[in-house]
Amino acid sequence: MMRRPAILLLVLLAGTQVAAAADSLRSKLTERLSESQRMLLAVTEEDEIAVGRRVAANLLGVAPLVKDDKLQRYVNTVGRWVAAQSSRPDLPWRFGVVESADVNAFAGPGGYILVTRGLYASLSDESELAGVLAHEIAHVIERHHIELMRKTTLIEEGRKALEKQVGDKEELVRRLVGSGAQIFARRLDQAAEFEADRKGVVLAARAGYGPYGLPAVLQKIGSVAKSDDRVQLLFKTHPPVEERLRMLDRVMGAEFLRYERPGAGGALAPLR
Ligand SMILES: [Zn+2]
Repeated sequence: MMRRPAILLLVLLAGTQVAAAADSLRSKLTERLSESQRMLLAVTEEDEIAVGRRVAANLLGVAPLVKDDKLQRYVNTVGRWVAAQSSRPDLPWRFGVVESADVNAFAGPGGYILVTRGLYASLSDESELAGVLAHEIAHVIERHHIELMRKTTLIEEGRKALEKQVGDKEELVRRLVGSGAQIFARRLDQAAEFEADRKGVVLAARAGYGPYGLPAVLQKIGSVAKSDDRVQLLFKTHPPVEERLRMLDRVMGAEFLRYERPGAGGALAPLR
């Protein structure tokens, strides 16, 4: 007689405990999944820099820096000045001219920007250099490449990667670099390129350069024969030059004329 209520009480207690345990397990699992998702989805500035350093090292492996300290210092001075006008002035910005006849420029995440000898040789003044660097700086500021690498990693590794906790930051960087080894040969979406053009022009103007530096370089690139080997990669990875100029014209219009002042370009460091 006396035991019955006790048993009932026990059963009731056990029931609530099971429910409580299930609840906390579910929330723990959810926490765990979102934690692993966060690890993969969140790429901190530190990761971005680590990825950029490796990606740049890959490129430098096939196209080393031009051996001219004066030229490299000069390009860094111009690049850092333009980058200082951006929303991320504190990134470890590095600029360089690499040995390649190609006409191209590359932006590695975290602030590693490289211009080919072929592109540098086609420039007429400093505002054109500033315009080219500013386009690449804008890619870095907006995290265009790192986002592409992150998405690629997620698609390639999919659920498998989400299930396996990426607890190690080193591992995350390795995976991102793995998915982006060919990042320089990858095409961003067109909107990202138009955005880099638009923001690049603003950055160069803010740095005191004539805003027509980038459009002038685009015009030159547009006049190179489409079949020319030196522009194949650039044409493959960017929207048609005519379209980029049309988009820029739409936003620049007459508005930018007020920024144009004679001699805003200045002389380039000679390329030996
Ligand atoms: Zn671009």
